[in-house]
Amino acid sequence: MLYELDLSPELKPKSISILGSTGSVGKSTIDLILSQPESFEINVLTANSNYKLLAEQAIKLNAQHVVIGNDNYYAKLKKELAGTNISVASGYQAIIDGASIKVDLLISAIVGIAGLKASMQAIKSGNSIALANKESMVCAGRLMTNEAKKYNIDLLPIDSEHNAIFQSLEKANIESVKRLILTASGGPFLRQNRDELKDITVEQAIAHPNWSMGRKISVDSATMMNKALEVIEASYLFDMKQDKIDVLMHPQSIVHSCVEYIDGSIISQMGASDMRTPIAYALSYPNRMKTSGNSLDFSNGLNLTFEQPDINRFPALRIVREVLKNGQGQPTIFNTANEIAVDRFLNKEIAFLDIEMIVEKTLDIMGNKQINNLDDVYNLDIETRVIASEIKGIN
Ligand code: NAD
Ligand code: MG
Repeated sequence: MLYELDLSPELKPKSISILGSTGSVGKSTIDLILSQPESFEINVLTANSNYKLLAEQAIKLNAQHVVIGNDNYYAKLKKELAGTNISVASGYQAIIDGASIKVDLLISAIVGIAGLKASMQAIKSGNSIALANKESMVCAGRLMTNEAKKYNIDLLPIDSEHNAIFQSLEKANIESVKRLILTASGGPFLRQNRDELKDITVEQAIAHPNWSMGRKISVDSATMMNKALEVIEASYLFDMKQDKIDVLMHPQSIVHSCVEYIDGSIISQMGASDMRTPIAYALSYPNRMKTSGNSLDFSNGLNLTFEQPDINRFPALRIVREVLKNGQGQPTIFNTANEIAVDRFLNKEIAFLDIEMIVEKTLDIMGNKQINNLDDVYNLDIETRVIASEIKGIN
């Protein structure tokens, strides 16, 4: 009889922590949560330095605990939250401790390898993860996926391409997947030639035509390093060899990626270019939630185009193939060298085309190293930082 059914597990709000709540992905996640507040309860929010926004978010969401990475902002954050029950901590170890608090889902939205330790801690604490922080998967993919299996947690991709593949993958037919097709918008410089790329400024590089994102990923999209990182991310997340992952340029960013099966079927996920869709999928998994985002407008027809990437214009897509073939520590070196080069470009120390030059040179100088545990990843990260910081720009 219906009234005997225990409905309480369905009605219970999902407990959520957000690492990197003040960033682009973090803010979109909060928008979604506020659109359906009865479905979620917020445990931990973290940020690096934006204490004002962090405090505002914590009050609005009635969070239990906030952590600011940079200790210099602890007192200010504490003052903003005086008179509330929200507990406050600071420092990077406190972010890792926050990640270990048991929740139904932890949103990993810190940028860079800086998010890795906290994500690993969350997995070890049995927290399922909605993963935006692709750099952690690139640097420690095998370690992360093994731990996720060991602790039996869900690893739900937020990156729109991987989310599309996740939605298109038939679990019972993984063996029948012929290839994954990652789509790429091409960023702001899809039609520029190498000569024109030489003088790209920071302001031009961070102005993406389809997506509004943080500064680092915007530069990565302009160099196509983002797509290269995503090839590595896909290979670990879906356990696919690099030769089964293709990249296709698709400037409209509507087909978010595809899975092709051996019978010729290609299954893809489409939608407007709005990160709220993949984030909503992860937030409400295995169900779906309503979003206020735009639905795809077919009223004037849809112009969908696809073309092969030009690896001479965007060498990142060539370099990543070697990186994945070599495996071991190369993805970590690739990621860290890119993080350093992007930082240097954003600080106007080097030119746009120096980014890929520095990444390639760093890979050459560093060679390869075995990765058996997280310490190996961090040692390699430290070594790589030194090398990538020393290489002089030439462009
Ligand atoms: P962002 O720069 O807007 O935000 C980064 C967040 O991380 C902020 O909350 C910041 O306070 C925090 N943070 C930065 N450095 C930190 C550190 N050292 N320690 C602790 N916290 C730190 O970045 P974003 O665009 O939201 O991207 C976040 C992640 O999601 C990246 O890995 C990015 O590649 C991935 N991603 C983003 C988008 C997007 O649309 N923005 C899409 C797909 C994937
Ligand atoms: Mg992406």
